[in-house]
Amino acid sequence: MQDKQHVGVIGGGIIGICAAISLLDTGHRVTLIERDAPGQATSFGNAGIISPWSIIPQAMPGIWKQIPGMLLRPNGPAGVSMRQGPGYLPWLIRFLRESRLDRAQANSDAMQLLCGDAVTLYRELLRGTGHDDLIADAMYVHAFRDARNADLSSLGYKMRRQKGADLERIDAADLRDLEPNLSHDFQAAILIKGQARARDPGRLGTVLANKIKALGGQICRETVRDLTPVSGGWDVITNMGTHPFDKVVLAAGIWSAELLRRFNISLPLAAERGYHVSFGDADLHLNNSIMDTDAHAVASSMDGGVRIAGVAEFTGIDAPPNPGRLRALKQIAQSMIPDLKHKTPDTWMGIRPSFPDSLPLIEECKDLPGLICAFGHSHYGLMMAPKTGRIVADIATGTPTNIDLSPFRAARF
Ligand SMILES: Cc1cc2nc3c(=O)[nH]c(=O)nc-3n(C[C@H](O)[C@H](O)[C@H](O)COP(=O)(O)OP(=O)(O)OC[C@H]3O[C@@H](n4cnc5c(N)ncnc54)[C@H](O)[C@@H]3O)c2cc1C
Repeated sequence: MQDKQHVGVIGGGIIGICAAISLLDTGHRVTLIERDAPGQATSFGNAGIISPWSIIPQAMPGIWKQIPGMLLRPNGPAGVSMRQGPGYLPWLIRFLRESRLDRAQANSDAMQLLCGDAVTLYRELLRGTGHDDLIADAMYVHAFRDARNADLSSLGYKMRRQKGADLERIDAADLRDLEPNLSHDFQAAILIKGQARARDPGRLGTVLANKIKALGGQICRETVRDLTPVSGGWDVITNMGTHPFDKVVLAAGIWSAELLRRFNISLPLAAERGYHVSFGDADLHLNNSIMDTDAHAVASSMDGGVRIAGVAEFTGIDAPPNPGRLRALKQIAQSMIPDLKHKTPDTWMGIRPSFPDSLPLIEECKDLPGLICAFGHSHYGLMMAPKTGRIVADIATGTPTNIDLSPFRAARF
């Protein structure tokens, strides 16, 4: 590598944070530019799942049959606003194309490249911070009210198994032993073993942001207004002034596409909003991440209480949170865990940056040398972040990676 290059990382979500650490590890000077506190946007409120086996894309064969039901159920697991709906049509068409079996399998293979080492990589990232306990071993419990649906021969489980996942089907009695606080309405479960959960995704961001500083990186709390190529590098213009860099990593989640628009780069990146309700006063503990497979919502014990996260809502970036969805999520939480009845949760909304194939964009822009994109991690950004960070550092350094990066290039669209 040449002399220490100065890399600017735009966006201090979990993707930007992990990229900054990997860049520092590979000998770069790094400045992370984040308008708020690092790790507190979408990366704050997720369900905390860190799994080598979350490798089933959202677009799977047969999804087209489920979409009308999902959309028509008021405050169901997915929704699109009437006003924004037509704007999402090209994205939806692409999404349906990605649901062909061959595409779904190829996307799953690519997801595994990013998720496969997630647990180990987080443990490495946390080493020396004194906060190793932020990641806990856990299983993913897919809980079913109708036992007939807990079917290990269904495609998603078959694909996981083919890639080496350790799965087990259990009945209602074993589920009660495993998770005594779960509603007795659940009659069976499928356990996905060998994964972990973040006990507080927001604090994980804070701890890793502190690691950036400990490694000699700088964090500027500024808002990026523009970025422009200059001779031998890039200028990043913020509300406070201009930062010159050798290279720039764009990791601003859903807001990345807006910053690319001045280069006439248009990408099928959808704002897919999700919500959580968090019961800080819940006097109970869940041992694992638990998905209600009817509601597509995930419950997990976090340091701040019991959190239930879910919903895929396509209503644009700027709309305010939808109170109807929060009410519905609270009801789901209380139907999953009866002891949450009569409790009042804190609520949160965040925006997943989602491409139709469930894969992010990770590449140096073809016509804009020195600008490296790392965004679009949709439902999987927490677990894909450490590997994404390493790939970004390899790209910045010019180190050939040992994995095929073509599924993450913009040329796929
Ligand atoms: C309900 C829900 C549940 C989820 N559950 C999981 C899960 O269990 N496991 C999992 O792996 N993933 C999960 N996800 C997905 C995961 O949270 C996201 O993929 C991930 O947080 C995206 O990280 P990011 O860094 O790209 O974006 P963000 O966290 O949104 O970070 C982008 C950052 O860029 C900053 N920024 C934007 N514009 C500018 C600007 N102009 N100047 C300066 N800064 C700027 C923002 O302030 C923000 O901090 C879930 C998401 C949701 C909504």
